Amino acid sequence: MLRQLLLAIVLPCAATLPLAHAAEPAKPFFALHDLGHGVWAAISPPKSPAGANAGFVIGPDGVLVIDTFEDPAAAKAMLAAIRAKTDQPIRYVIDTHYHLDHVAGNDVFAQAGAAVMAQENVRTWERTQNLKFFGEHPTAKQAQFVASLGLPSVTYQHGITLWLGDRKIIVRALEGHTGGDSTVVIPDAHVVFTGDIFWNHTLPNLIDADTREQIASNDTYLHDYPGATFIPGHGEPGKAADVRAFRDYLVTLRKDIAAAQQSGKTGDLLVNTVLSELRPVYGDWGWFDYFARHNIEQTAAELQGIKRAPEPGVP
Ligand SMILES: [Zn+2]
Repeated sequence: MLRQLLLAIVLPCAATLPLAHAAEPAKPFFALHDLGHGVWAAISPPKSPAGANAGFVIGPDGVLVIDTFEDPAAAKAMLAAIRAKTDQPIRYVIDTHYHLDHVAGNDVFAQAGAAVMAQENVRTWERTQNLKFFGEHPTAKQAQFVASLGLPSVTYQHGITLWLGDRKIIVRALEGHTGGDSTVVIPDAHVVFTGDIFWNHTLPNLIDADTREQIASNDTYLHDYPGATFIPGHGEPGKAADVRAFRDYLVTLRKDIAAAQQSGKTGDLLVNTVLSELRPVYGDWGWFDYFARHNIEQTAAELQGIKRAPEPGVP
């Protein structure tokens, strides 16, 4: 059942979603990684109903949370993990983007007193665009779940600077995964939370992606934070070499597709040609069998200029 929930979010054609949020899973939702300086990453193992990674920063006078999982029960587990370490108020939540696996626990932290913040397109898209992850005919229960997601109460266009006492947290709107992505930089800890701009040795969901922008954002990470620890939206914490490997995957994907298109290939022939080129290098990456075909089809459409992406609207 819980696996179905995960598949529902990662595959747009998945048909069912049980919305069984109540039970604690047999395995933990996430593993906490101590990154020093009060910075913690909550890394979700594959198939966890938490659905994505998250994290938090404990400062001298408050706590910042980055992302809130796909399941409110996982958010409650992270709230309990924070409370086991500090009784400082939880001041801020940053949603790195609107996708369901990063925002479904927003209300858990809002009810604990936090201001939920995000790039303005997150507020525009969160209760509308997330419906597509339930297929063409969402159930009433699924529609109600999406319609009741907790929205950001503070939005920004290009970024925001937050302070936990004298600790500076830089939030930058770097694009590529959805058109409304935020990167959270904790300079004094040399940690960067990338959201889904970076997936560590894992194929990405490119349903909303602009891969040219996504490559540029990964180049920004390598240029601006070469010594940092990068917490991806999916996969284990990484270093610059891992960011470079992911960036190179996107470059290779675009290059192989462009070459196939230039030789006149379309449809299944194009997909199978590019798959056979990617598999020897990337076949052991997470979600390869799940996402490779979608990555090729969606990026082929992007290169042809016919890919549809969510439009910015009134936040
Ligand atoms: Zn994600």
